[in-house]
Amino acid sequence: MSVTVVGSIAFDAVKTPFGTREKMLGGSAVHFSLAASFFDTVHVVGPVGDDFGEDEYDVLRARGVDTADIEHVAGGQTFFWAGEYGWDFNDRKTLDTQLGVFEGFEPKLSEHSSGADVVFLANIQPDLQRQVRAQCSDARFVALDSMNFWIESAKDSLIETISGVDCILFNDAELKQLTEQPNLVLAARQVREWGPSVIVAKQGEYGAAMITDEGFFGLPAFPLETVIDPTGAGDSFAGGFMGYIAAHPGEALDHDLLRRAMAYGTTLASFNVEAFGVERMTTLTSDEIAERVSDLQRITHFIEKPVALRD
Ligand code: AMP
Repeated sequence: MSVTVVGSIAFDAVKTPFGTREKMLGGSAVHFSLAASFFDTVHVVGPVGDDFGEDEYDVLRARGVDTADIEHVAGGQTFFWAGEYGWDFNDRKTLDTQLGVFEGFEPKLSEHSSGADVVFLANIQPDLQRQVRAQCSDARFVALDSMNFWIESAKDSLIETISGVDCILFNDAELKQLTEQPNLVLAARQVREWGPSVIVAKQGEYGAAMITDEGFFGLPAFPLETVIDPTGAGDSFAGGFMGYIAAHPGEALDHDLLRRAMAYGTTLASFNVEAFGVERMTTLTSDEIAERVSDLQRITHFIEKPVALRD
C-alpha cells in the first residue's frame, strides 16, 4: 500500500525569534512526505523549477520518497513562501507567496501515484487538488488541507473540492473562517453537510481535535522546551496521521484507529518544530517516534475515580 500527496514543493524564507532562513526546502507536500515516509511509501506530486536541485531531491530520496511525479518545469521558478513569527507561534504573518511553476501546472499522475490507497491533498490551489483526487478514484481514504490564502481567493472551488474527500485537516481558525461559524462543533457540522465525515482541527501549540460519526477526540500538543520553527507542523501532523492510516490497510477506519492516528500526527508534528524547516526530520529515527508516542499516551491518560459530589 502507499500514500500519494499533492501540494506545494517550495523554498521558504522564515523568521522566528530564534533566527532567520532566507531560502530553505519547504512546502506542504515536502513536510507531509517526510513525516509519512516513516509509515509507508510516499509518492509526491507537484512541479519545481530550475532552482530545485539534487540537494533538495536528496532530502526526499534519503527517506525513500518516490519523486518520479515531481515535474521539472524548464525555465520556471519553484513555489516560494515567506513568513514571520513573533513570540506567539500560533500567530503567523505571510510576507510573500509566489506561485511560480504552479501557475499552469496540470497534474498527470503515474500509475503508482494514482493507485495509492491513501491520498493527501495538501495545501495548494483547490482546482489542482480536485484534479488529483479525480485521478485517484480507488483510494480508500482521501484527506485535504487548505489555508486562508485559498479560502479568500478560491472559496467556491475549495468547497467543491472538500465535497469529494473523506476528511479535512484544517487549522482551527481557518475552519471557522471557511464555515463562518464561531466554534468547532458548529464548523464541523457545516463541513460534514458538504461531504467529509472526519474533521480534524489543528490548534497549534494547543494540540488537535477530531470529530467523526462516533464522537469527539482531543489531544494536546506534545509539551516541548525547544520550539524553533513551527513551519510545516500542520503538514507533519497530516503525514503522521495519514501515514498511520496507510500502515493499517485491511482495518476499519473507525474512531479508535483515527484516535491512534491523531497520536502519531501529534508526535511527528512535535519533532518537526524542534528545528528550522525540514532539518529535524532528516535526523529523526523510528525509535524516537515510538518513545514519544508512549510518552504522549502516559501524559494524556487518566483514570476516572468517582467522588461523592455535593448537590
Ligand atoms: P504549515 O506550517 O503546516 O501550515 O505549512 C507551511 C508550508 O506551507 C510552508 O513550507 C510553505 O511553503 C507552504 N505554503 C505556504 N503558503 C502556501 C500556499 N498558499 N499554498 C501552498 N503552500 C503554502
